[in-house]
Amino acid sequence: MNFLLPFPFLAGLAAAGLVNYLADVLPHSLRLTRPVCANPHCRQPFAWGDYLLLRRCRACGQRRGPRALLVIFLLVSVSLYLWFEPPSRLGYGAGLLLFAYLSLVALIDLEHRLILRGLSLAGLVLCAAAGWLLHGWQSTLLGFLAGFGIMLIFYLLGLLFTRLRARRLGQDPKEAEEAFGSGDVTLGSLLGLLLGWPLIWGGLLLGLLLYGALSLLIILGLVFLRRYQQHAWTMFLPLGPGFILMTVLMIYFPALIAALLPK
Ligand SMILES: [Zn+2]
Repeated sequence: MNFLLPFPFLAGLAAAGLVNYLADVLPHSLRLTRPVCANPHCRQPFAWGDYLLLRRCRACGQRRGPRALLVIFLLVSVSLYLWFEPPSRLGYGAGLLLFAYLSLVALIDLEHRLILRGLSLAGLVLCAAAGWLLHGWQSTLLGFLAGFGIMLIFYLLGLLFTRLRARRLGQDPKEAEEAFGSGDVTLGSLLGLLLGWPLIWGGLLLGLLLYGALSLLIILGLVFLRRYQQHAWTMFLPLGPGFILMTVLMIYFPALIAALLPK
């Protein structure tokens, strides 16, 4: 099988290129345009060759950030892993496609705090098909309803909290940043399709714990670096990536989750 190894390597590279490209263009244009330089004073479009080879911008000389390389490293590693350990019932191809999609949603949420509606619609089809393969249509449908319902309750509670806090700080409630966006409700529905009923409960609960743990680590890191200031209290990390990471762990590394949970 080793003579086939270039295949998952190249497939991982192609998936990484696609994720990088879509994460660069979709939040700005919502269309498949030519990627532009990230420098806000430059915004010159890249030549395709320069873009794909991660060259710096020819107009202003700005380097490409570390994200493009990180995405390549992640997708190629996961592609090789899935080649040898394909997730049961999903298989290598669907597994890689789903992973690339989830990385893209998490990346855009991290970089822009956005869960794009068009991308979610495409995800609805993808996640419904994957859920059906993973655990049948009944569990998928119930998971979808539960994911939507749980996140909707969180969203409404978050809205209430944001309003109260904005009033205390004397801000306009319409301009206050929300811990939970409406995009998170969409995301909950997508992950409900993927994890199915009743696993979605555990997924969202563990995702919330993971989010809490990651936030705490980041805050401790900021305190350690003495960058923590009062405004950190008004700053939220997006929740989506925590939930997505937990879903990925549950689908692709079920043995790891089972080993970590108390029996
Ligand atoms: Zn530039």
